[in-house]
Amino acid sequence: KKVLFSGMQATGNLTLGNYLGALKNWVKLSDEYECFYCVVDEHSITVRQDPATLRKRARALLTLYIAAGLDPEKNCIYYQSHVSAHAELAWILNCYTYMGELNRMTQFKDKAAKHADNINAGLFTYPVLMAADILLFQADVVPVGIDQKQHLEITRDIAQRFNSIYGDTFTIPEPYIGKAGAKIMSLQNPEKKMSKSDENPNGSIYLMDDTDTIIRKCKRAVTDSEGCVRYRDEQPGVKNLIDIYCACTGKLPSDVEREFDGKGYGELKMAVGEAVAAQLAPLQSEVARLEKDKAYIDGVIKNNAEKAAYFANKTLRKVQRKVGFPDRI
Ligand code: ATP
Ligand code: MG
Repeated sequence: KKVLFSGMQATGNLTLGNYLGALKNWVKLSDEYECFYCVVDEHSITVRQDPATLRKRARALLTLYIAAGLDPEKNCIYYQSHVSAHAELAWILNCYTYMGELNRMTQFKDKAAKHADNINAGLFTYPVLMAADILLFQADVVPVGIDQKQHLEITRDIAQRFNSIYGDTFTIPEPYIGKAGAKIMSLQNPEKKMSKSDENPNGSIYLMDDTDTIIRKCKRAVTDSEGCVRYRDEQPGVKNLIDIYCACTGKLPSDVEREFDGKGYGELKMAVGEAVAAQLAPLQSEVARLEKDKAYIDGVIKNNAEKAAYFANKTLRKVQRKVGFPDRI
């Protein structure tokens, strides 16, 4: 079986963007691949976190992976910080990555601008840790949203560079970017992607929002003064609502234009809100059920960390040998 790796940061409550751009595709692909789904808590501290909150969010995120439909018997679901090989390989790969390459990363620029008081070295080398995550498992495919495409490209570059120096070591991964929902925009600013670390809660729909909240946020979504439901770049707010609607219902943008021909934004927003609420309801009830089963989640955490470490260490040992570290006796 081919290998799939993906992960999310425990930096906030998951948004509809994370679900439609990533998690939903993970579930879709999970039968086809040998899968590793990581809660990337080491990436999370590139931005300052409150320790108690981080711990709580990490557990909530791991629970959510399972609630979304990933079977932890068949998929390896674990915390990055429980598998030390991530940090160890990242160090080595740091020495095979150029400052100039990292300087071009748009996420670094965005996040550095947002957290000007804490532009730390970890934020800068974030893509190298991400490359380590992926390459450790010899992943063939990495399902992500469009915002992570550049990080996948640098991962491929680092892997190819290493392979060309030391011979075949890493599988070169391909991104998997779904057709619908690959870039959900903020409801309050359709020029900006929806992010779980956004401070304005009205810009994001959180996976745990109740139906009333979802509908209220959709009703307040920023649109335009054109007054017609059309799928085009000139109407980014409406386009985003259509994207959300399509990702939740499986409809195509052209169907939606027809469905709302002659109708106003109010009707579109209501339909989007209802479609989102219907999409999230089963996920929410499953989370509520799983949260009660502490022993079960604890078991998943323990068993899967061991399984992940086993695979990760195989690659790490190979790499350590290739760069010239002394053999273990
Ligand atoms: P942060 O703001 O802390 O970076 P985030 O919302 O960007 O949070 P990540 O943990 O960085 O979330 O990313 C998890 C996954 O969700 C990645 O695969 C990413 O590509 C995807 N993703 C994030 N935002 C969106 C979005 N707006 N639309 C589609 N996919 C998204
Ligand atoms: Mg992000």
